[in-house]
Amino acid sequence: MGEDLLNFIKEKRHKRKIPIQDNEFYCVKCHKAVKAKIGSEQVIKTGKLIGRNNNEQSKKVGICEHCGTQLNKFLQVCQRD
Ligand SMILES: [Zn+2]
Repeated sequence: MGEDLLNFIKEKRHKRKIPIQDNEFYCVKCHKAVKAKIGSEQVIKTGKLIGRNNNEQSKKVGICEHCGTQLNKFLQVCQRD
């Protein structure tokens, strides 16, 4: 792997990344970050344990305020020991 290739991969990743705020979701229909309809947001536990500390994984779901598509995203677990 040359340095050029690494830079290429980094750049590609950078471009593909869509900035999403804490209160936003990525809508697959709108192809952009959207807000959920007020009152539609819910946090659901997936029942999976992730990470070194066996943190419970949960996801946030909602309804797109533009097109009504079901939205969901995994919540990042930031707990550290
Ligand atoms: Zn949408």
